[in-house]
Amino acid sequence: KKLQVAVCGLGRYANLVREGLAASQYCQLAGIVTGSPTKASQWKAEYHIPEKNIYSYQTFDTILANKSIDLVYITLPNGLHKEYTLRAAKAGKHVIVEKPMALTEQDCQEMIAACQRAGVQLAVGYRLHYEPHHIELKRLGQEKVFGQVRLIEASLGYRLADIDPKDWHLNKALAGGGPLMNLGVYCVQSSRYVLGEEPVAVTAQFGPVTLPHLFTEVEESITWQLYFPSGAVCTSTATSTCNIDRFFASADSGSFELSPGLSYGPFRGKSSQGAFNFPVINQQAAQLDGIAYYLLANKPLPAHISGEEGRKDLRVLEGIYTAAKSGQKVSLR
Ligand code: NAD
Repeated sequence: KKLQVAVCGLGRYANLVREGLAASQYCQLAGIVTGSPTKASQWKAEYHIPEKNIYSYQTFDTILANKSIDLVYITLPNGLHKEYTLRAAKAGKHVIVEKPMALTEQDCQEMIAACQRAGVQLAVGYRLHYEPHHIELKRLGQEKVFGQVRLIEASLGYRLADIDPKDWHLNKALAGGGPLMNLGVYCVQSSRYVLGEEPVAVTAQFGPVTLPHLFTEVEESITWQLYFPSGAVCTSTATSTCNIDRFFASADSGSFELSPGLSYGPFRGKSSQGAFNFPVINQQAAQLDGIAYYLLANKPLPAHISGEEGRKDLRVLEGIYTAAKSGQKVSLR
């Protein structure tokens, strides 16, 4: 049996999830949730979705009665992740929610508790955990192949000069923040999984506003420093001012890096031992199969992909905003 997946919110990323579902071994696109009748009929015709598995945001809760859907994959704007996770859990469906998991750590806690109460599992769409270059970064860092990692630089940015001023990414209520929420989560994640540690303190600075007609509600760019118990420091920028996409780690007897490093790739990387040579994979398919393996076997999801992992990231993201607003070093203990 394949895991029967309904995709909720048919925007840009939903299309990559759909391609991932088509390429996956253990999952199948079974249903959709959309506010657009046009998209509903397009997806129905092109991907052979039965009418009974098509929901609007208003009829979504009736998915409870639909035994042919096992999991809801939420690809809505960040500010809607919590509401739809709670509704999916109440309907008895497993959930994959896109990153960032929610707008606050408190929201993540409520989502985790709701899924526990409902007896369903909750995963965050962290595709890089299944990507070979990133699995190698994790190994090099956590197994201390070059000794203790001392310094990480991990940054991600896209120049958004041409974005529609009405896009939800610029709206505080729907995005939760600017590039920190949408891109910075990858920088925070990579430093946490390469070190295998949780940061204990943070300092942060907002960058200049160069696109003032767009960035009225959320930050245009932000730079921060995470301090880890081992003494390692990670410095990062998430920005909508310019393009940047790289990861670099320096350890006692060597270094390793990826550039492109935190986007969709294709990734290029090397360590002090030479160039990486890993295949390009469908990241969404690998992630979906990695999650489905546990759900189909009725086993608990591994920690690195669970809601708990999303909660840990939101804790750090909130700390970064507090530090940038106050200009103070903020303790995360
Ligand atoms: P998008 O704008 O392309 O799609 C959002 C969808 O939500 C649209 O179909 C829109 O119609 C629908 N929607 C429903 N209610 C809405 C409302 N009130 N306001 C605005 N849109 C509404 O966005 P996207 O880029 O697909 O991002 C969706 C989610 O996926 C975000 O949480 C984002 O962070 C995440 N994402 C993840 C990755 C990844 O690599 N894992 C990449 C891109 C986006």
